[in-house]
Amino acid sequence: MTRIFTVAIDGPAAAGKGTISRAVAAHFGFAHLDTGALYRAVGVKGGDPVAAAQSLTTEDLARDDLRTLEAGQAASQVAVIPEVRAALLDFQKRFARRPGGAVLDGRDIGTVICPEAEVKIYVTASAAVRARRRWLELGGDAAPKAYDTVLAEVEERDARDMGRADAPLRAAADAVTLDTSDLSQDAAVAAAIALVARALARRDAPGA
Ligand code: C5P
Repeated sequence: MTRIFTVAIDGPAAAGKGTISRAVAAHFGFAHLDTGALYRAVGVKGGDPVAAAQSLTTEDLARDDLRTLEAGQAASQVAVIPEVRAALLDFQKRFARRPGGAVLDGRDIGTVICPEAEVKIYVTASAAVRARRRWLELGGDAAPKAYDTVLAEVEERDARDMGRADAPLRAAADAVTLDTSDLSQDAAVAAAIALVARALARRDAPGA
């Protein structure tokens, strides 16, 4: 498919955006961009975050410490800086409208990066469920952090991402909300694929 088709997937930390986005991209043969990785790479690079955002390299994005909880916190701290967001804007906008279809996941894809996206999904889950997922990923009872600490960090990050002045996390008015609190990964992925398939069928319908 050479036509432009953007799937915008937004939502809070550990709601399941990454898994859903990768599965949707693989299913439809679309390119995928995890935009959180851009902010994580800026956060862990150190030094002046604006300069880091303006000079981000592929090596920065390939670091193996981007997925840690600390990198997530650092990302959400640099993500409040308007000049950091501005430096990352064009790359994301161009990625979203590249020919062949694109899936982007983040916080502001449907609201700021690509308001014209053909499909917008707001993936969410209760803070308790999201914290539990993160805690289990870290090893559960063997995790270096107690569940309560992980929950406090998840809530702190939510508050910062939703409360910032520039591009705060919120569902776009025309987004479909997918609450994964009580869904298996497979069920959440199937629901997202069905939404995208419906939008593609509408677009390709005779007379559309
Ligand atoms: O999605 P992920 O947990 O990797 O994102 C890390 C942080 O980067 C988020 O908490 C948020 O502050 C920031 N972010 C953002 N806008 C995006 C993607 C991520 O502000 N589009």
